[in-house]
Amino acid sequence: MPELDKCNRCGKCCFLKGIKEGQCYISDIPCRFLKVLKNGKTKCSIWKKPYRLGIWCGTIDGLKNICIKRIDSEWEYENCLYNEDVTKKLEKDYQESNLKDKVLLKK
Ligand code: SF4
Ligand code: SF4
Repeated sequence: MPELDKCNRCGKCCFLKGIKEGQCYISDIPCRFLKVLKNGKTKCSIWKKPYRLGIWCGTIDGLKNICIKRIDSEWEYENCLYNEDVTKKLEKDYQESNLKDKVLLKK
């Protein structure tokens, strides 16, 4: 839930992730700070705390989640309006790193 303007507060990005047979997957275990409201939406219970970003907010049986800005997470979540922004950012980062490689090769 790190950005709010497009966030529908589904909470999916706040679930612990793991790797099984070489594949990344999202578990059904939420971050310990995620609260589910009566209307089914979710809320981070430490939303305004300065130490929120970058903390490891859960490690259970090898599953982990790190709280980072949604735009900095490469995961795709069903119906998350940030998926498109993340893809664009990844493409931009990729193009910039290619450009850097070309400059380095010329030197
Ligand atoms: S997955 Fe997207 S829509 Fe859902 S809580 Fe995270 S940022 Fe918000
Ligand atoms: S600490 Fe981060 S991952 Fe955990 S509920 Fe809050 S926003 Fe989500």
